[in-house]
Amino acid sequence: MSTVIHTLCWYLHGLALEKPCLPLLGDESGWLTAEQTERFVEAGAGLLYAGGLRPGTLVTLPAGRTVNTVLALLCLQRVGAAAVLTDPRENPRRALDGCVPPLSAPVCLEAGGDLQRPVLLLTRGEEAPLKLPLVSSGCTPAPGFDDADAPAFYIFTSGSSGQRKAVILSQGNLVSNLLDSAPLGGYSEDDVALGALPLDHVFGLALLTGAVVLRHRLYLTAASAPEELVQIIAREKITRMNGVPSLYLAMAKKARAGEVRTLRAGYIGGAPWTAEQFRYIESALGMTLVPVYGMSECIGISCASHRAPQGERMAGVGPFYPANQGRIFWEDGGQARPGEEGEVCVRGPMRMLGYHDPAQTAQAIDADGFLHTGDLGYVDETGVLHLTGRKKDVIIRNGVNLAPRRIEEALLSLPGIQGAAVVGLPDEICGELPWAAAVCAPAVLERAMEGLCALLAKNELPEGIMRLDALPMTPSGKPDKQAVKELIRQWRKV
Ligand code: AMP
Repeated sequence: MSTVIHTLCWYLHGLALEKPCLPLLGDESGWLTAEQTERFVEAGAGLLYAGGLRPGTLVTLPAGRTVNTVLALLCLQRVGAAAVLTDPRENPRRALDGCVPPLSAPVCLEAGGDLQRPVLLLTRGEEAPLKLPLVSSGCTPAPGFDDADAPAFYIFTSGSSGQRKAVILSQGNLVSNLLDSAPLGGYSEDDVALGALPLDHVFGLALLTGAVVLRHRLYLTAASAPEELVQIIAREKITRMNGVPSLYLAMAKKARAGEVRTLRAGYIGGAPWTAEQFRYIESALGMTLVPVYGMSECIGISCASHRAPQGERMAGVGPFYPANQGRIFWEDGGQARPGEEGEVCVRGPMRMLGYHDPAQTAQAIDADGFLHTGDLGYVDETGVLHLTGRKKDVIIRNGVNLAPRRIEEALLSLPGIQGAAVVGLPDEICGELPWAAAVCAPAVLERAMEGLCALLAKNELPEGIMRLDALPMTPSGKPDKQAVKELIRQWRKV
């Protein structure tokens, strides 16, 4: 018998009826109960429907980490419109233009007002924003919408090709992943989760799904500095969080045990960690880390259990989620046996509906429905997945994927640069950092970093650029990235 997966608003409705007074969403301006949240969402959905939004309408939503932004997101879900989630620090139009092929979502929604009187700002094309205060009086409710399989979220991922791809996820993708992870993650009804991760990333969206489906509090904050997060944990009595290894490490270095004693459990994922780091974080923060492995295209792929002893938890990234079917495939399509390395492939209810570009979808998902992750690994005799490397060319800095190709193209666009190769080198805090090699005259090199600053985001800037007379090449004529890595390692030592 298959389980019916419902939408977030279906869960919110039940929660508001059964636990109306539960403080559900909080930020620095206060908390909204489940009932208040439901009331605002109903009112907002009615207004958006009256304003012409329909199931399937694409709406750009800058994903700031505030309660009012979450209300805006839930209003869209309630109508059945799809939220194109953009980084709030970025001009939304630029995010959409940077997507290949370009994505058009000319309706834009933003959250305004305060927690007592939230307002939606709806903009169509070049028109002035329409202010929609979330008051329920006088507005006809939007028709019921409970299609958990419909496109609901568009999020951007930087593919190894350097092109930004738009991943399309349904509410069902998120909800089924959450239900699957619930027995493993060490959740509790009195949890207060910390929402300090971007809501335009699956790791952040999973926190919102967790709060609504598992019925616990979520405190949202735009803060990202470890000192500030430690203070928030103490003040709000935070019990769980999601984070990348570099975030936990930075917090572990700042926190005094007494300040974070309420913290019980947290998912760690997004980038590799060492056993030493894992032990250090757990002892400094006094919490249980639950390793997860996932990606924008498939949310959670594997997860350890919070009940397993530390030694078991920190080895590998846990077994595949029960509802996921994971396989390790070789290059020739053959399937690896336990202990044998190959590409991690996965299919199941968490897998994205596809990319905005069907050609990209066809490249990533095979005829049997398996998503080819581009990550390399093996499954051991006990079913635990171990990641060993990446087939795809990405650098993961503080859990954020960077495309070396984008940095190489920026370098090559500068006058006087004839060749460029960008590689990731390990870093204790950030996981990996980008380093570049460029074929150019010494005088050109001096101005290269300045030129890159105008073309790239801050976290894409290489730590250093090594000048070479020629790039080392593989027998097939491609830049030999392993050799470049070695050259840069030697250069750094000098
Ligand atoms: P993103 O699509 O930005 O979420 O990035 C997904 C990628 O992050 C994966 O394909 C992996 O390469 C990497 N990743 C995610 N979780 C882990 C983990 N637990 N350990 C190592 N790498 C990870």
